Amino acid sequence: MQNLRYVGKNLFIEKLSIKNILKKNKTPFYIYSENQIGFNFLKFANTFKKSNPLICFAAKSNSNLNILRILGKLGAGADVVSGGELLKALKAGIKPKKIVFSGVGKTEEELKIAISKKILLINCESESEAKLINNLAKKLRKKVSIGFRLNPNVDAKTHKNISTGKAENKFGLSIKNFKIFLKTIRSFKNISLDALSVHIGSQILNDAPFRKTLNVMSKLIKELKLNLKYVDLGGGFGINYTDKEKPINLNKYSKLVHNFSKKLNCRIIFEPGRSIIGNTSLLISKIQFIKKGTNKNFIILDAGMNDFMRPALYEAFHKIIPISKNSSRMRGKIEFVGPICESTCKFGVYKNYPKINENEFVAITNVGAYGSSLSSNYNTRPLIAEILINKNKLRYIRKKQNLQKLINS
Ligand SMILES: *Cc1c(COP(=O)(O)O)cnc(C)c1O
Repeated sequence: MQNLRYVGKNLFIEKLSIKNILKKNKTPFYIYSENQIGFNFLKFANTFKKSNPLICFAAKSNSNLNILRILGKLGAGADVVSGGELLKALKAGIKPKKIVFSGVGKTEEELKIAISKKILLINCESESEAKLINNLAKKLRKKVSIGFRLNPNVDAKTHKNISTGKAENKFGLSIKNFKIFLKTIRSFKNISLDALSVHIGSQILNDAPFRKTLNVMSKLIKELKLNLKYVDLGGGFGINYTDKEKPINLNKYSKLVHNFSKKLNCRIIFEPGRSIIGNTSLLISKIQFIKKGTNKNFIILDAGMNDFMRPALYEAFHKIIPISKNSSRMRGKIEFVGPICESTCKFGVYKNYPKINENEFVAITNVGAYGSSLSSNYNTRPLIAEILINKNKLRYIRKKQNLQKLINS
């Protein structure tokens, strides 16, 4: 995050010191830089400026209403994966004609919402789904625009739990089965195949899998002589979680995408999530206790895997930094852990970490994507607050959930 730095000993986000923010706010909480959100979105848009794509922010990466609103105002559409996300995107002011709906198991209820709201595309993932959409559209006397999601069988070379474009993954339809389906679709009079879509995985740091996918799509569309209005190339663009990683460079890919869209005369859609919102947020947490272990000391935080699940779910690495930097260091190994009664509720091991004490604070970095949106009430813990910073202004974009309400069900 460019908007994060130490001034003297103290960590600042935009123009506010976190130490100051902590005076009035109880941990744990998420804090976002609005400036960084805008920067990321405009940078992405600028990279692909020549092809003028529709950029549908993947709402599942962060579905906070205010964040959707900020992105909507910058021109983003939304890629949604449930009826709830669809309604939220609309509530955030995103126009239906900028919304695409993905997912392998959409329900009749969800599809009815999508049809009646006249969204841009339902990205259909199976023959059964196409049949259901056709039947619903017929009943509602509508013709519905669909995109069909293909499984291009390309290895995204990412963590196996976030790979989605290989034959073994549940997503999309294989090219062979899609060709068979193309015959069936002719009898579906209430849907029109306006797009093909792909999304091969997430946190992809090399452009090779994207270029490969583009080739597969290009060949297929030419071979089948499909006349498409849109090609949806999905999301998945990686960011640097560690100091060693480099964020993906998309300049070469953007040229290929431009040629592709010109040749096929179709508009490109992208569905980035992580690359827009990932590095915009910190999870601020207090050190509740420090406990001696056998080979390491445990730094027990007040944030748990229910607040931030990526490390437990994907063994994801998120650098943890102190709010006030101490120049002396602790000897030996420490492990940051949370309070949840699960062994996977842990956030990383460090050696010779800067000296920290009980009741001091740390920030878990790059938690904007799949952070708050994946949080839960596990262990009957309320959802935590989300705070947005714009220069020196602070705004609550989600209040901490009321514990009283939570214990009533
Ligand atoms: C999750 C998802 C995305 C977003 O992926 P990122 O890695 O966050 O960019 C895009 N499209 C679809 C269909 C998804 O399921």
